[in-house]
Amino acid sequence: MPDTPTSHATQHEFKAEVSAVLSLVTNSLYTNREIFLRELISNAADALDKARFQGLTDRELEGKELAPKISITSDKQAGKLIIEDTGIGMSEEEVTRNLGTIAHSGTLEFLRRVQSDQAEGKKPDLNLIGQFGVGFYSAFMVADRIDVYTRSAHPGNPSVHWVCADPGRFSVAPADKETRGTRIELTLKDEAKEYLDRWRIEGIVRRYSNYVMHPIELTAIKDDGEADGETKQINEASAFWAREPKELTEEDYKEFYKHVMGGFVLPGDEPIARLHVSLDAPLQFKALLYVPGRAPADLFLEDRKSVQLYARRVLIVENCDKLLPLYMRFVRGVVDSEDLPLNVSREMVQEDRKISAIRRQLTRKVFKALEDLAEDSEKYAKFWESFGAVLKEGVHTDNSHHKQLFELLRYRSSTSDGALRSLQQYVDGMKEGQEAIYYISGENVDAVARSPHLEACRAHGYEVLFMTDAVDEWVLQELGEYKEHKLVSVTQGELEMPADESADEEKPDSEDSKDADNIDALLKKAKDVLGERVKEVRASKRLRESASCLVDAEGAISRNMERILRMAKQSVPARARVLELNPKDAFVQAANELASASPDDARLGTWVELLYDQAALAEGEIADPAGMVKRIQQMLLQVAKQG
Ligand code: ADP
Ligand code: MG
Repeated sequence: MPDTPTSHATQHEFKAEVSAVLSLVTNSLYTNREIFLRELISNAADALDKARFQGLTDRELEGKELAPKISITSDKQAGKLIIEDTGIGMSEEEVTRNLGTIAHSGTLEFLRRVQSDQAEGKKPDLNLIGQFGVGFYSAFMVADRIDVYTRSAHPGNPSVHWVCADPGRFSVAPADKETRGTRIELTLKDEAKEYLDRWRIEGIVRRYSNYVMHPIELTAIKDDGEADGETKQINEASAFWAREPKELTEEDYKEFYKHVMGGFVLPGDEPIARLHVSLDAPLQFKALLYVPGRAPADLFLEDRKSVQLYARRVLIVENCDKLLPLYMRFVRGVVDSEDLPLNVSREMVQEDRKISAIRRQLTRKVFKALEDLAEDSEKYAKFWESFGAVLKEGVHTDNSHHKQLFELLRYRSSTSDGALRSLQQYVDGMKEGQEAIYYISGENVDAVARSPHLEACRAHGYEVLFMTDAVDEWVLQELGEYKEHKLVSVTQGELEMPADESADEEKPDSEDSKDADNIDALLKKAKDVLGERVKEVRASKRLRESASCLVDAEGAISRNMERILRMAKQSVPARARVLELNPKDAFVQAANELASASPDDARLGTWVELLYDQAALAEGEIADPAGMVKRIQQMLLQVAKQG
């Protein structure tokens, strides 16, 4: 393009605010310079959209025969990067206004904040930069001279050459561009020559502009002026999510999932569920989301991947965690809205309101998808194994969705033989006369399944839910009851249960059985021996086979919670627990007899200690294993001598 004679050029000063923005852009936003290309491509795509749209109604519009496309030329010989489109173009009046003022009042304020963050040594929020792109002016991060040649598609507008070569002013002059559209030539700064590299350009385009609907072609010219390879299209130019679900094949969905997951998917890791959403009110947006087939490794990390946010098919936030509640962070995919500005919005508050409107809708959709998934217990089990612990966080953090969340909870139980049970299934399977939903919390299924605390429930055929995720303790704080059945821990408080049927048959005389069960002498002796180590020693209603167990006092935090808090390095004051002895156990009865007859017998001390040891051992946590071995040794010796 020949240079326009300067005599015809009109000189303009940038408005003060533009100068301020320019100086901020060039000096402060250094961290994320590559977005300039995204901004220029999105402007070109907008211009193509406008031309297509106006061409529908305006018969006079020029250049309808031109193929809509965006051409990038990297010219190493000239040191220029050129972005050209066949879009709507600009008249002289438009170019002066559009590239000489700032339309968005929020821009300056936003950039000032970024600058002050940097001055204070804080890292500016790159997401925000992405979200509030800096538009055309971002090109000044990489270029020290920008030439714009543009011709409006509206007839009667001669083409113009806009040029800015030094800060503060630009000039506008006639040009001789013959076809409609805009050609932007960036003369790159020395330290920005990397943007002439074709791999670099392809990488940036794929990252931010892959799904821009118009083809983006790249031509590269080497230092010697020779072509560097063929001109070729470097973007996908088709946004899967923007199409109708019925237009898409399973292959398309698979392909896009691969893209979402960063390029490859191992066999067996195919998505568990997929949502393809298109909504128009109250806010227009489309979303294509997946529940991955395997828990991503970063699920519990602060800087994990998340959903990508697009505005009109241009990526604006790489990982936007505001689009779904945190407890749905396993969802991956894209959200794209026509209603979100690529650049700084006039009011950030309004911006936020739009995001939260999308979030409300998406949350509803994800719940719906999970409810559908739950119909298939096998698939849901796969989901639950990977993401159940994450979803459970919602019970603690999101009261407004308790109803949905409670229905989605699943637990293994004492009677489920490894299968997952819902609360509804539990309630449906309750025995006659059973009031409560029983649960046991602990470190893992193996440990809780063997716990002596289950014995009474087992005797009654009551199911006990196994709560073995750390987060269950927080779930329990919210899940006091389900469908009017209280949740009751079998390791806490005095477990009230109807008498065993079998026990009733054997001993119809309840007075008698009460006497037989009286172990007061032993209880008193045990409390004397154990002292401060136990809060209380009492006869147990929950034991059937075992002789003893330890339980938490009613209302106290559970031992499992204590364990979790300790793991999280929180200080937990040591608390004495309650020792329960089984009055029906033969050893307990023998000990009781001895305690009644001769409370000072030296053997009683060892026996009580052993009952305590057993209770601790059943929980897998014994404070003094060497002491226990010694006590067993003593007992064996006594038995051997008697024999
Ligand atoms: P935004 O795109 O948010 O409006 P920009 O700074 O990116 O802000 O662009 C400013 C304006 O310049 C655009 O709104 C548009 O009117 C005009 N413009 C920029 N690039 C082009 C182009 N390639 N073709 C036509 N008009 C353009
Ligand atoms: Mg723009």
